[in-house]
Amino acid sequence: MPLINMKDMLQHAYERGYAVGAFDLVSLDFLQAIMTAAERTRSPVILSLAESHFEYFDFELLMPAVETAAKRASVPVAIHLDHGRSLDSAIRAINIGCNGVMVDSTDTDFNNNVQITRSIVESAKACGIPVEGELGYVPGVEGEDAERHPGEVVYTTVAEAEAFVKSTGVDFLAVSIGTVHGRMKGKPKLDYQRLEDINNALGIPLVIHGGTGLGDDQFRRLIASGVAKINYYTALSDAAGSCIKENAIVQRSCSYTGMTKNIQNSISDEVERCLHLWGAAGRAAEVLTRSRPWLPVEHVIIYNVEGIDESRIGSMMAEGHRVLSNIPGVREVVIGKAIKKDAVYQYTWLIRFCHASVVGSFREHPDHVNFADKIFRPVAGKRVSIDFQTIESFFPMRQLNTA
Ligand SMILES: [Zn+2]
Repeated sequence: MPLINMKDMLQHAYERGYAVGAFDLVSLDFLQAIMTAAERTRSPVILSLAESHFEYFDFELLMPAVETAAKRASVPVAIHLDHGRSLDSAIRAINIGCNGVMVDSTDTDFNNNVQITRSIVESAKACGIPVEGELGYVPGVEGEDAERHPGEVVYTTVAEAEAFVKSTGVDFLAVSIGTVHGRMKGKPKLDYQRLEDINNALGIPLVIHGGTGLGDDQFRRLIASGVAKINYYTALSDAAGSCIKENAIVQRSCSYTGMTKNIQNSISDEVERCLHLWGAAGRAAEVLTRSRPWLPVEHVIIYNVEGIDESRIGSMMAEGHRVLSNIPGVREVVIGKAIKKDAVYQYTWLIRFCHASVVGSFREHPDHVNFADKIFRPVAGKRVSIDFQTIESFFPMRQLNTA
């Protein structure tokens, strides 16, 4: 069950002076390798999915595997949307299982960035989900991800950072202080003073994008100045690529399984190195006891219908399914009919919320209000409802807390 509240996870890291790795994954090999490294080193970890990588995999198809990996883990895990481009993509990510989202609207001006970020914060907060904003601009220089981030570095300023956090309400801030997306060229010059000033002004966990290629000392200094989350991908992709090259050239493999042999080890070795270097190794148990578990809530209604015929009941349910499925924080809408004809109640809705916060925001959401008041309640006079959390989900956490 160790899917936990990402805000609690990063707050712990921020207060204790270490950083959690947010590793972007692009395949099952990455997912398994990252989890292996986190389990081996007893580290909290963030499984990160970047919108810019969605061309490499089917987001909806990969997410159930990511969730399963998180749920069966013995170390604390959060699932994060990296570089989400719009409100729609943030809501989609939340509705299919991310419990943290990052907004990237740094390609627009400050006021627009504030506006877009604030709208995402409003929707995410209604689902209990923390948001990472970004201010300044981290460009790409070389490597797989570089071309996705054209242009020059724009440093984050203290004044803008303060105004941005105040007016958007973001929980974490990604800052630009000299790192680049992709591979570094030479040793990057980092503006530690700027980072320290931002940290003193904000007092919230800071995030660094473009960690590949930084030296050990550079990482330590970043973490000492408030960096609690490090985004890391290019080095993992390069390690996987080198492994394939070696299998092809040295081992003379030409089959898929031959060329990808040992690929997980090459990725997990690099993840392990980072987890030790950033101070996350060995923190799993304390993070688990200090963080709120991330638990879904099921909203169930059983009801009877009066005054309309069977075909109109069917279209009412279809309409409800369509409208309710798109409300932020709704993971799934299931409609059903009793098997027994003489059952006391004949119909049911089962609506899965990502988090207990959605119980309130769902009820007040205009699409729900409209459907419930105008279409559903007038014909469903007799009904019973319950919001519940599944016992299996929090039972292991309770055992852990009392141990
Ligand atoms: Zn980034």
